[in-house]
Amino acid sequence: MITRRKFIQKAGISAASLPLISNTHPFFQSPFSSQNEPQLRVAIMGLGSYANRVARAMESCSRAKITGVVSGTPAKIKDWQARYQIPDENCYNYDTISELKSNPTIDAVYIITPNALHCKQAIQVAQAGKHVICEKPMAINAEEGQQMVDACKKARVKLLIGYRMHFEPKTLEVIGHRKSGDFGKIMFFQGLSGFRIGNPNQWRLSKELAGGGAMMDIGIYSINGARYMIGEEPEWVTAQETKTDPIKFKTGVDETIQFQMGFPSGAIATCLSTYSMNNLDRFYLNGTKGHAEMQPSTGYGPIRGNTHLGPLKGAVVTHQTVQMDAMAGIILHNEEAPVPVDGEEGLKDMKIIDAIYKACATGQKVSL
Ligand code: NAD
Repeated sequence: MITRRKFIQKAGISAASLPLISNTHPFFQSPFSSQNEPQLRVAIMGLGSYANRVARAMESCSRAKITGVVSGTPAKIKDWQARYQIPDENCYNYDTISELKSNPTIDAVYIITPNALHCKQAIQVAQAGKHVICEKPMAINAEEGQQMVDACKKARVKLLIGYRMHFEPKTLEVIGHRKSGDFGKIMFFQGLSGFRIGNPNQWRLSKELAGGGAMMDIGIYSINGARYMIGEEPEWVTAQETKTDPIKFKTGVDETIQFQMGFPSGAIATCLSTYSMNNLDRFYLNGTKGHAEMQPSTGYGPIRGNTHLGPLKGAVVTHQTVQMDAMAGIILHNEEAPVPVDGEEGLKDMKIIDAIYKACATGQKVSL
């Protein structure tokens, strides 16, 4: 088993920055565990752009591997079968999800489809007795998220959300500094999350498939980031929506939303979510004794940043490799994530998104 010191050397994390994560914490063991332990056997559902990124990253996993696919496109299935040696009996389409039940060589299904499909598909996977890993946003509102949590509980399977940043070394380094008091009392967080979206015909710009606009897709990183950087749950939100292109961003598809969140300690967060500005990927945390800034903060990496103490030193990793190895530990061995990635965690973000949309529509401060 790898020791904490060896992990820290390998990950390039300063030991002092991680005082509250013990050396027996599974995160330190996950990516480097024994080759003899069973691997998490994963079927990927939805073989689009992010699924391809996840699959390439999983080639380097030691604790998880791809053993199946679910897709509506036979040509993609064939291609994935060849790439990942997937047998015919482990290939499903969206009408045969229930048949996963009788397949002993698939433990979990990773749902990487458009947002509005997540809820129904997660419930189908749970009812087939398989663990659910689901991309963010977990659903298109909190009501759906709750249905997913309930269905997985009822089926006694785990529900994990694809929050890859919850395993990212520099992110954990900042969280470690905050936990050890290096920043003093946290006063302020700023999150900027956005990119300029292209093709006007893609599902991300359809209310029906995306459930919203930039907030669902990219703004959620600032919501989630505010929570793990500050280390508290917000009590209220205010939000303002602006739209420069009502043709591209139709009713119900948000282009740009500025939002603010208030936390029990008195800390405040101010964030921007947009589909109209590039290179917007920045977190800033300020406390009475110090600060941290990360830019990029949630992109695929390398994540960069510094605190008042100096540059962040955490290793550059492939986020999805570390995520899937850690998720294998969570599912197979009940290990704990350094920052939660369970259904309840996803639900917290969905409740905040619901409140942000309500605040935009009413102009009122919305309590959580
Ligand atoms: P994509 O369009 O590239 O892929 C979506 C896949 O779903 C395609 O293969 C498509 O064929 C399939 N699909 C199934 N039913 C469909 C339907 N009715 N309409 C349209 N497509 C359908 O999208 P993507 O970028 O891979 O995003 C998929 C999910 O992954 C989204 O929930 C997104 O938020 C999430 N995502 C997460 C990250 C991350 O960093 N965690 C990054 C990108 C995307």
